[in-house]
Amino acid sequence: HTLSEADRTLLARRRATLGDIYPLFYDRPVHVVRGSGARLVDADGVEYLDAYNNVPAVGHANPRVADAVHAQLMRMNTHTRYLQDGVVEFAERFLATYPAHLDHVIFTNSGSEANDLALTIAKWRTGNEGVIVTRMAYHGTTSLLAGVSPENGPGMPLAPFVRIVDPPDTFRHGDAAGAAFAAAVRAAIDDLRAGGLGVAALLIDTIMSTDGIFPGPRGMLAEAFGTVHAAGGLVIADEVQPGMARIGEAMWGFQRHTDQVDMVTSGKPLAGGLPIGSLVLPAELSDGYAAGHRYFNTFGGNPASIAAAGAVLDEVQERGLLRAALDVGAALRRSIAEASAASPYVADVRGVGLFIGVEMVDREGEPSREIARRVVNGLRDRHVLISAVGRWGQVLKVRPPLVFTHEDATAFTTAYRAVLDTLAQEG
Ligand code: PMP
Repeated sequence: HTLSEADRTLLARRRATLGDIYPLFYDRPVHVVRGSGARLVDADGVEYLDAYNNVPAVGHANPRVADAVHAQLMRMNTHTRYLQDGVVEFAERFLATYPAHLDHVIFTNSGSEANDLALTIAKWRTGNEGVIVTRMAYHGTTSLLAGVSPENGPGMPLAPFVRIVDPPDTFRHGDAAGAAFAAAVRAAIDDLRAGGLGVAALLIDTIMSTDGIFPGPRGMLAEAFGTVHAAGGLVIADEVQPGMARIGEAMWGFQRHTDQVDMVTSGKPLAGGLPIGSLVLPAELSDGYAAGHRYFNTFGGNPASIAAAGAVLDEVQERGLLRAALDVGAALRRSIAEASAASPYVADVRGVGLFIGVEMVDREGEPSREIARRVVNGLRDRHVLISAVGRWGQVLKVRPPLVFTHEDATAFTTAYRAVLDTLAQEG
């Protein structure tokens, strides 16, 4: 499996210009040129099954999204300081997918910007400094967020006001994981208070994607959220990964556990790849902050991104993608579990909707980054795209576009089974 001459040349030009700051997936990078639905096509015309990307939630090159953006660009594209129908109409429809107390939205260009603003507002509102995140959390690119994103590794120092808690690891701790998580949050709050910082926010991805994917039982996170509230802190649900119908049981990941959150951020899945981020919050927080602070975001909520987001929401609602995520996700999870049953390398298959984690271990039963890496690259060589996450890089992350079909699930499992067979033969 070597790269073509053309791909080697492109790779060299890429290195010479983009350098190492944007690493590529896979030992053998995939050179994509177009896509449709859950399929991507490479420069040689080879088709890949995309079982990884949440940005093309309603499918690659979705014509409805493309048409909406084109039509908007042919009219105009400007910022949000003129009165416009589009952004207001979309805000109304978007907010209708949230619990009633979350009745305002601020549009940004990325999940990072939304999280950054959410933390700023939490610090302002509570008068506290402390932020609690999970052990392998990733929340964004700004320097504020890099300081609360331990997934970036030891080279990127954490902020002095952050406290790390272990995620509710239902694989290792079973039903006790939720209570253990609440206890860890309580200890973090005590530590922040002892340091004179207090707790401003628990910032949390409710499916723990970078921590290794732990959806847990419904309601698992409610106790921890209550603990934060009792201490005067706010709960910020980062819905960049689980949000927008993916988990099937609800539009937003936090809703599986409780509606009692104070702010909700998202980005990636909202607009088919056009830049957008959202911060949804109560009027009291939004208007209260606006009373004393200026916030202007040139491109946030621009008409082209909003047109794309409107088309994505149309697709999700009219094609019943929430229900589809539940049904196809359950079938995919079942078939992955069946295909894994005889493998000594698979310790657990878990997930909810179209968000599935597969825990890979070595022959000794230890979490194995190397085995996960071999499966990810083995699938890539069979033209199926996934990745790996988790504290030890040991969890296969299967998070396909919402338009993933039962046929796609069957194709996935066929390739997965073949990769596990190869692993077994190679030892
Ligand atoms: N939060 C989570 C959970 C994410 O996964 C990401 C992006 N991977 C972000 C925030 C940051 O979003 P963006 O890249 O749009 O800034």
